[in-house]
Amino acid sequence: MMRTLIRGGRLVDPARRIDGQRDVLIEDGKVARVEPNLDDDGSCTVVDARNRLVLPGLVDPHSHLRDPGFEYREDIATGTAAAACGGFTSVACMPNTKPVCDNAAVVEYILSKAKREGSVNVFPIGAISRGLAGQELAEIGLMAASGIVAVSDDGKPVANPDLMRKALQYAAGFGIPVISHCEEPSLSADGQMNEGFVSLRLGLRGIPSTAEDAMTSREILLAEYLGVPVHIAHVSTAGSVAMIRSAKARGVKVTCETCPHYFLLTDEACLGFNTLAKVNPPLRGAADVAAVLEGLADGTVDMIATDHAPHHADEKDLEFALANSGINGFETAFGLSYTRLVDGGVVSLARFVELMSLAPSNLLKLGRGTLAPGAPGDVTVVETGGPWTFHRATMRSKSKNTPFDGATMTARVAATVVAGRVVYQVEEMA
Ligand SMILES: [Zn+2]
Repeated sequence: MMRTLIRGGRLVDPARRIDGQRDVLIEDGKVARVEPNLDDDGSCTVVDARNRLVLPGLVDPHSHLRDPGFEYREDIATGTAAAACGGFTSVACMPNTKPVCDNAAVVEYILSKAKREGSVNVFPIGAISRGLAGQELAEIGLMAASGIVAVSDDGKPVANPDLMRKALQYAAGFGIPVISHCEEPSLSADGQMNEGFVSLRLGLRGIPSTAEDAMTSREILLAEYLGVPVHIAHVSTAGSVAMIRSAKARGVKVTCETCPHYFLLTDEACLGFNTLAKVNPPLRGAADVAAVLEGLADGTVDMIATDHAPHHADEKDLEFALANSGINGFETAFGLSYTRLVDGGVVSLARFVELMSLAPSNLLKLGRGTLAPGAPGDVTVVETGGPWTFHRATMRSKSKNTPFDGATMTARVAATVVAGRVVYQVEEMA
């Protein structure tokens, strides 16, 4: 029997209202015991968690592993290694691969490759529309039977409201969420960055915040009318936060996520035509950043996603209008978010664990986000105090497209444990 003992740490498990010193014993991949001062009988792999936080493994509800089809940017082996380094024990991956994950064969390919080569759990998300073309529904039922945890056309909006209506009804029948990339394409058009003073100054075509808000509004109206859930991806605007807040107050089954860059950076990061800050939705203005932080603080924003979007250097070292959109997020999301949100006094530590583990697990019905006995033995051990400086050159991801090179963080991942197996450890621990 494989046994792993995580010893001496401060366990924070909000689902069980635990915040205190506990040892965690994992046997054959599942949490067996959670008690102060468990003894090692000599058969255990011991992870020393003294002076560290022990958290239920982090869960990312929104990432791009680029496999199949774009393995020059990332593949399942490198993507999950980067995720493990960032403290994630489970990641959900978006279907904009080549071929698109719009049928059971691609779902099965991802699951079997993840089983062979993955460092962490991988949960595929299927396409809403066949080929992400926005014309007809993909084989949602067959994909659900093969193991998808959600559907999304992420990267593209579902422009046709009737198709989204059908997707919401159909997915609800299978008990899986629809994740909407909210962008009204006639308003975003060929915009390059947030529409505002900075876009004007740079002479770049802008994407107005209403491009996101119009679609957020539509999804809320559809979910409310149909009485079914909808999940809004990567919320970046004050308008979307306000609409989601008021929809929740009247009982609409809407949930949402944001990403670290939407509460850490403004569109000023694009100054100097910095393509590492080009992302979709675009980095917004200071009032939007403040609204996203307020949404995190008051519970309007349910969870944090990385939107890990690796791109090859050749797709970023271009003039701004030609560069791809996306930020590589696995290896910075936890440390940056902890620094701003917990040390910055925006949310409590327990709430932070909900944002990065319990809430995304609940959205996708993964049965994770807690270290209750019987739960999967997925654990993230964290060191706080810092500061530590993040260096892009040390990234494990195949791509290095991050605007956060040189950022300092007050927390870092010390060890990542998946089903009792140590898949990542900081060097001085190994
Ligand atoms: Zn998206």
